[in-house]
Amino acid sequence: MTRVFNFSPGPATLPEPVLRQAAQEMLDWHGSGMSVMEMSHRGKEFMSIHAETESLLRELLAIPANYKLLFMQGGAIGENAIVPMNLIGRTGKADYISTGDWSKKSLKEARSYGKANVAASGEASNFTAIPKFSDWKLDPDASYVHICSNETIGGVEYHWTPDTGKVPLVADMSSNILSREIDVSRYGLIYAGAQKNMGPSGLTVVIVRDDLIGHALPITPSAFNYQLQAENDSMFNTPPTYAIYIAGLVFKHVKALGGLKAMEAHNRAKAAILYDYLDRSGFYGNPVAREDRSLMNVPFKLKDESLDEAFLKGAQAKGMIQLKGHRSVGGMRASIYNAMPVEGVKALVAYMKEFEARHG
Ligand SMILES: *Cc1c(COP(=O)(O)O)cnc(C)c1O
Repeated sequence: MTRVFNFSPGPATLPEPVLRQAAQEMLDWHGSGMSVMEMSHRGKEFMSIHAETESLLRELLAIPANYKLLFMQGGAIGENAIVPMNLIGRTGKADYISTGDWSKKSLKEARSYGKANVAASGEASNFTAIPKFSDWKLDPDASYVHICSNETIGGVEYHWTPDTGKVPLVADMSSNILSREIDVSRYGLIYAGAQKNMGPSGLTVVIVRDDLIGHALPITPSAFNYQLQAENDSMFNTPPTYAIYIAGLVFKHVKALGGLKAMEAHNRAKAAILYDYLDRSGFYGNPVAREDRSLMNVPFKLKDESLDEAFLKGAQAKGMIQLKGHRSVGGMRASIYNAMPVEGVKALVAYMKEFEARHG
């Protein structure tokens, strides 16, 4: 068996010990005589998996007691509609901070459910920087302020938490949740698809403050109504059981490694190796403002685009895959989530040096 270094932006690489345990438990989970996939979601076996997964995530993120943790479906793109459906009815309007492809998608979707304003935009810098907080034009009557904490495509990340006062802060954390400690109490709502840092696709995590529940627009589908999901412990409909189980194994693994403090140190070390090399090289470049660079997704370009294909081919031959940048920006992108080992980043930089020596 050969495992590659998988730099995919998502679904992304998972910790090998988690995959091994899942393989071992595939046919017979803990003497139950069945796979987790075959269990009733209301049976005692799955209920225990669900409860443990929830309690591990609460512990890792130190989620305060006045927040509900919901396991939903529909992904972050689903939440782009589900959030306004549940929250925008409070005042009919919301502020959006536009920092790249994902926040723009969120904004566009919200416009079907209320008045969604752009309170700040990174457009002037071609989305290579987070707009300065002093330039944000926030509406004190907005139902919430929406940010994307890490733009997976552009590689810009907030390394600070906006203080939006009484207006709840809502964050799409799909691509940097669990990468470092956060203060959940600074947010009204956090949502994230699982397939970057938590597990397989199919599971969407929503962390929502109690007082923001119960304001859904009448058109909200029942399965997407936070109140109904909260009242039913995320079992209003059949939850994505297998994805919840794998996420639980990932949470246990992260906890054993030392939790989110350890994850942050690991992620900072990896990102530094790559950015340091990019900054020293005249052959590759990263356009993002230093203070806003993502620790999770590192886009970079070869000065000579005509070498892109050769670069990707050579990387693939060395077992490094999914380095092609998003079609909207071109170039390369290395996604180096929690589960990417430091060896993977070292191997990438060694290959980049060698490629530069050959073609530079
Ligand atoms: C991956 C990603 C999404 C899309 O998630 P889906 O599961 O496809 O809905 C949305 N936002 C961000 C920041 C992402 O990284």
